[in-house]
Amino acid sequence: MADDPAPTERERPDPKQIDRKARFQIPANRPPKQDPVERVKNWEEVSFLFDPEVAKVEANRCIQCPAAPCTKACPVHNDIPGALWLLERNDFGGAADVFRETSELPEMCGRLCPQERLCEGHCVVGKNALPVAIGKLETFVTEWQREHGGIPASPLVPKTGRRVAVVGTGPAGIAVAERLAKRGHSIVMYEAWPEPGGVLRYGIPDFKQNKPAVDRKFDDLRALGIEVVTGVRVGTQISWQTVRAGVDAVFLGIGASEGARLAIPGEDAPGVISATEFLVRANLPPEHLPEPLRAPLGSPQRVVVVGGGDTSMDCVRSARRLGAAEVTLIYRRTDAEMQGRVEERKHATEEGVQFEFLAAPVEVLLDDAGRVRGLRCQRMALGEPDDTGRRRPQPVPGSEFDIAADLLVTAIGYNVEPEWGKILPELVRDRWDRFVADPDTLQTNLPAVFAGGDAVNGADLVVTALADGHRAAEAIDRYLRGLGPSGSASAPLDDTRRRFIGDSSLLG
Ligand code: SF4
Repeated sequence: MADDPAPTERERPDPKQIDRKARFQIPANRPPKQDPVERVKNWEEVSFLFDPEVAKVEANRCIQCPAAPCTKACPVHNDIPGALWLLERNDFGGAADVFRETSELPEMCGRLCPQERLCEGHCVVGKNALPVAIGKLETFVTEWQREHGGIPASPLVPKTGRRVAVVGTGPAGIAVAERLAKRGHSIVMYEAWPEPGGVLRYGIPDFKQNKPAVDRKFDDLRALGIEVVTGVRVGTQISWQTVRAGVDAVFLGIGASEGARLAIPGEDAPGVISATEFLVRANLPPEHLPEPLRAPLGSPQRVVVVGGGDTSMDCVRSARRLGAAEVTLIYRRTDAEMQGRVEERKHATEEGVQFEFLAAPVEVLLDDAGRVRGLRCQRMALGEPDDTGRRRPQPVPGSEFDIAADLLVTAIGYNVEPEWGKILPELVRDRWDRFVADPDTLQTNLPAVFAGGDAVNGADLVVTALADGHRAAEAIDRYLRGLGPSGSASAPLDDTRRRFIGDSSLLG
């Protein structure tokens, strides 16, 4: 088996080469962004890429700590000092290769990770200044590599004759498919939507991650010999039995796209939609959507979004780009308890989004035609911490107030599509319909069936789905080689993953 290269074996700078004092004096650099007034008129990415010379200066701020707390805090354990050492010495391609050793989606993770609580949040330089811009440097070198000769071809490995079906083409499925294909197994990926990519295409708006980057990733996967079948929903266009019969193992990486309900009066009225539906209809051309979702959203002027994570930020910022004049986010706790990226909240504020903290919806208000005209909310106060460690919001009696709205978007949590209960009734699920899998091997209770990513953890990060994919690929490979699904080759569940599983509470 071709093991992944061990990052610790890479050439390191001689500690005497690193003048830490001088490096601490280098001012922080960040790539430019689109002006907020202009960017709400388009769907282009907000941040530009680093200029190459500026990127080298920023990489030079890394003090090459031997303990690399940034690497430990990264869910896929990218060798960040190793990559930045190559970057500062002008080897952009080499730096990109370092990120690609441990990540199938470095261009995207650099754009999408909440770096302030992962790599950059543990950067030693960041204790007294802005941390090294690890995420933006990761995106810069990996995009630079694509523009300058492309990704080096993977070495050819002999075919094993084993076949694996990957159901779902989001980050977890991509990681499993790529890793197993590089180990000689034949892979077929099934996608229910018309185009592949899962949340990368259908969940993340263009102003955070452009769609051609998703297309390029699937070009890479097809070049590895992976078959990608789109527009085929397991349980409808193809039966589970057919999928299972043709392969030696299956990985279920179907995500969690079923929006949780508010459970308040009026919720089923026209003008109330889930974040999943809102984002796909706002962000994608109709031909990339299933027939029932092709109707245009129109031009809502007053949009209210209920939620507190990154998806709710994607919704409010998409609403501004659709032309809504008033966009309000309702969140039942405070800014301090919000789980999404700080940068996204900053962007939303710059783009004119209003925040109503400590407020919870109690009733959807309807006009005479039965359409949404507003949302009745109630003020909340924070009480004792709940089992997520965050203070529990408590209603304040007699504090109701109304907000006018012609579109209400719910972004309060995501479950696995309940149809899977009928497709695979014997698969053990939890009370939110999420698949139950061994946390180390991602093996489900069904023989040769593995599952990971949001389908197991609930809505979480792209990078934690990749980490799941790595663990599952290792276990599937062992299973296919007759070594059993669990064994010493599987890395133990690390603290980073445990923390994020613990974080994925449903209602924020
Ligand atoms: Fe940081 Fe995410 Fe890149 Fe890891 S994958 S180095 S956490 S941006």
